[in-house]
Amino acid sequence: MPNELPRTTQLDHGITAIDTDHMRPLFDASHLIVENKRAAFVDTGANDSVPLLLKVLEEQNIDTANVDFVFLTHVHLDHAGGAGLLMRSLPNAKAVLHPRGAPHMIDPAKLTRGAQAVYGEERFAEQYGEIVPIDESRIIIVADDAEISLGGRAMRCLHTEGHARHHYVLSDPQSEGVFTGDSFGLSYREFDTARGEFIYPTTTPVHFDPPEAHKAIDRIMGLSPSRLFLTHYSQVTDLPRLADDMHKRIDDFVTMAKRAEKETNRTEKIHRSMYAYFHAELAEHGFSGTPHQIDNIVEIDVLLNTMGLEFWLDHQH
Ligand SMILES: [Zn+2]
Repeated sequence: MPNELPRTTQLDHGITAIDTDHMRPLFDASHLIVENKRAAFVDTGANDSVPLLLKVLEEQNIDTANVDFVFLTHVHLDHAGGAGLLMRSLPNAKAVLHPRGAPHMIDPAKLTRGAQAVYGEERFAEQYGEIVPIDESRIIIVADDAEISLGGRAMRCLHTEGHARHHYVLSDPQSEGVFTGDSFGLSYREFDTARGEFIYPTTTPVHFDPPEAHKAIDRIMGLSPSRLFLTHYSQVTDLPRLADDMHKRIDDFVTMAKRAEKETNRTEKIHRSMYAYFHAELAEHGFSGTPHQIDNIVEIDVLLNTMGLEFWLDHQH
C-alpha cells in the first residue's frame, strides 16, 4: 500500500477510534472517550496495541493519571487481551467488567487455555503473548444497567448475551451512541459502498445463543441510538437497516449450520456455504472487489463463526 493508513480517526463528542492493527489494519478498534480532561478506553486490542494507545494519549495531551476507566465489553482477547498490560501504565484507571468476565481478568489462566484451544498454542503466543492479570482492587464489576460517570458524562452498561455471556454494551447518551463490542456484529469499512455499510454477526465459540443474539440487537436499538461504535470496525450510522440485516443474518447462519448438521464433512460444508453467502450478499450490496478480496477479509470470521456454530449445534438442548 503506497500510503500508510491513518491509525486514529477523530469522531465527534470527544471520541477517537484507534486502529489497534491487531490481525490486520481496520480490523480491531479501541475507542478513546475524553470528557472534561478525563479519559476512558473502550476495549484495548492485544498486548502489542498498548504502545499505540499510550502514544495517542500523549498526542492528545492526556496524562496517563487522567484515564479513569478501561471499559472491557467482554473478555475475548481481541477486546481485552492488552488491558492488564495497559493498566500498568495507567495509575488511576479501573477496568470495568461484566460479573462473569471479571474473574477471567483477575486470573487469565482459563481464558488463555480457551483461546489456545481456538487458535492453537503457537498462533496464540504469536497473537496474544502473555495475558497480564488485573488486580481485583482495580476492577469495577457492573450490574445490568449500572451508571458510570466519566468526568460528569453519564454512561450506562447494559448486559447483552448472544455473542458472549460476559458481554455488556456501553450506552453514551451524549453522543447518542452505543459502544457495542461484538453484540451488534462486525462491519468492516472495506465493504462500504454507495448503499452504505455491510454488517454480519459474529458467532464465535463458546456462547453463541441465537435468541439472545436477537434480543441484544433489540435492546441496543431500544436505546434509539444515532450511531454505534463497533470494535470491528468503529462507527456505523444506518441503524434500522443494519439491525434488520443482523436479525436476518443471525437466522441465515443458524440455517447454514442446521443444514450441515448431519453431514460427515460438516465443517467444510459450513465454510463453503458461508463463503458463498458472503459472495452473494456482497454482490447484492454493490461491493466491486473480487471474490479473492472478499475471502481475505472474511476468512478469520468464517473460521471462528463456523467453530461457534458447530459448538452451538453440539450443545443444543
Ligand atoms: Zn467477541
